[in-house]
Amino acid sequence: MALNLPNQPHDDADRYLAFLEEACTPAHAVVAVCNRLRSGGFAERSADEAWLPVAGERFFVIAGDGRSVIAGIVGSRSPVDTGYLVFGAHTDSPDLRIRLNPVRREAGTVQLLTQVHGGIIRRSWLDRPLMLAGVVYRLLRDKEGAPRFHPLTGQPLMGRQLVRLPRPLAVIPDLAIHLDRDKNDQGGINPETALHAVFASGQPVEEAVALLSHELGLPLDAVDGFDLHLVPFQPPQRLGIDGSLLFGPRHDDLAMVFAGVSGLIAAAEVNDAAAPTFAATRIVACFDAEETGSQTSSGAASAMLRDLLLRLARRHPGSPVDVDPELAFARSLVLSGDMAHALHPNFQDKHDRAHAPLINQGLVVKVNTNDRYASSGETIAAFRALCEAAKVPLQAYVHRQDAVCGTTIGPIVAAQLGARTVDFGAPMWAMHSTGETMGALDMGYAVALATTYFRGGQA
Ligand SMILES: [Zn+2]
Repeated sequence: MALNLPNQPHDDADRYLAFLEEACTPAHAVVAVCNRLRSGGFAERSADEAWLPVAGERFFVIAGDGRSVIAGIVGSRSPVDTGYLVFGAHTDSPDLRIRLNPVRREAGTVQLLTQVHGGIIRRSWLDRPLMLAGVVYRLLRDKEGAPRFHPLTGQPLMGRQLVRLPRPLAVIPDLAIHLDRDKNDQGGINPETALHAVFASGQPVEEAVALLSHELGLPLDAVDGFDLHLVPFQPPQRLGIDGSLLFGPRHDDLAMVFAGVSGLIAAAEVNDAAAPTFAATRIVACFDAEETGSQTSSGAASAMLRDLLLRLARRHPGSPVDVDPELAFARSLVLSGDMAHALHPNFQDKHDRAHAPLINQGLVVKVNTNDRYASSGETIAAFRALCEAAKVPLQAYVHRQDAVCGTTIGPIVAAQLGARTVDFGAPMWAMHSTGETMGALDMGYAVALATTYFRGGQA
């Protein structure tokens, strides 16, 4: 029997899986994004440098906390004339993070104490190998060991280091069925007590921490601050007889981060830097902290995107001296890319059957008349035009009216900028599980859509 394996869009799917593996925390996601941008000819701009943008310039700006990044290509005309073409997504995913006092000895084991970020599916964290990754900070000290302060800003001086221990380090064991006969029918998991991870057995705490320090190449007792995550160890991978399913953590929302960044890089490849002709300034914004409401220094509710866009409009060589940079927003369009709930074969009553997107059958426009999504009739029509131009099938999602709908960065960015916005995503199962599933074809569609968007409707 000859198997008819889908092929073309799989290039995007394979490139995405490699990205997903690298992007194991928001800080690592920003690094993975920036590495790809650099390869595509983009250069970093510091948020505080004097910057006169040049038409055709490819740039990216990393947030002060290193967990969000905005990239763009400066258009040939003033943004006040053209508006911006913005693609937004988020770098964070629901996960388990390490508590401030992280280590405890219990029942002959040494545990890492966790706390929850966002709406995790608790049971998906049990009984799987977990690794440790994130960022650690160490204060710079003088010879006597006292902390040093910057003479100009008066702020403490410190070093920042990304860490990732790429091996199975810890496990959160479930409780045996014999000790909880009701667990299949009830099975509640208390996040305060039941989600701590075992990373050693037998040793005293000090010995276990010393071993971990040795493996990390970092004296943990000298760490002064950290943002550390437990990360599912199993690499993302293809599933299904035809390889058409992509399995892994963090599809929500790194799939859309990858699509937006890939589209921007692809658009830059056809942009002649010597004589740029594309009029509008194109932007990809990848925000942290969507899963907890976006109210952080670099979340979608922060001033980060708005300030950068105002600055670009003010400093663009085509802008008049007395420009009102806010005028650019009313002419802008925002695509808010975040994943969508695919119809589940085992739980089909969870969808309105007229709004039940299918895996590998195209992108999904998301609508909610309580404004949990930002899509409007006008922006739905705009998104339809982009899908037609990109030859991408379009599906529709409306949450059941007797259930509580999730939300995205879409309404937040729309309100921050006063810009027309559409919410869309690729269909997936098990959103917020450590093992989410999406379609390989849909990854190709998402990249095609973003590329067409950033080429002004040219596929
Ligand atoms: Zn999301």
